[in-house]
Amino acid sequence: MTISHHLDDSTLMRYASGDLDEAFCIVAAAHLSLCPECRRSVRLADEIGAQLVDASEQAELTGGAFERLMLRIGGNGERIVAPRAGAVAGSDVPLPLQRFVGPSLEGISWRSVAPGIRKHAVTLPGSRTSTLFLLHIGPGKAMPEHGHGGSEMTLILSGAYRDEFGRFARGDVADLDEHVEHQPRVEPGEPCICVVATEAPTRFKGLLSRLLQPFVRI
Ligand code: ZN
Ligand code: ZN
Repeated sequence: MTISHHLDDSTLMRYASGDLDEAFCIVAAAHLSLCPECRRSVRLADEIGAQLVDASEQAELTGGAFERLMLRIGGNGERIVAPRAGAVAGSDVPLPLQRFVGPSLEGISWRSVAPGIRKHAVTLPGSRTSTLFLLHIGPGKAMPEHGHGGSEMTLILSGAYRDEFGRFARGDVADLDEHVEHQPRVEPGEPCICVVATEAPTRFKGLLSRLLQPFVRI
């Protein structure tokens, strides 16, 4: 598996400092469980310490600054994503996701929400600010172009889609802010299964609300 789309620097910093909303934290951890490169970055961010965390919270840290700091500090440690009870290593569901959806993509129960699109909502009792769900999108299916009313983080678990930013396949993450507009299209041949974190529906006016509200109340 070659991963070509990663968490952005500010997300890595926020993950390392425990500052991500729950749904985003889960998707980030799932990507990290598949991505040695981002695990190294998180380890380095941990080592950088409180001063850098403060800087990231003030949004003063550019990607370039983060990279320079990482270069200066060096190291190649990896953060361990602890498996949960009953978790299955080597499953097609990343370990941090297994406690929410079980150990197999095959075992997920889907609800049809639009032609060619199925959804599995994950209940996060502790989160009022972010939501987590999985999408199962049919082969060749295009989504309407959409802006994002809030941040959206999507990790591909199976299949692939393409949009303006390239091809996204298993392990790739689309870590997008509210200003992004894009038009993903699933590749022919097999469905694309992805896990998505969004800001709470009250703020989120992007993909799902525009795409699905004509069909069903979500
Ligand atoms: Zn990565
Ligand atoms: Zn989107």
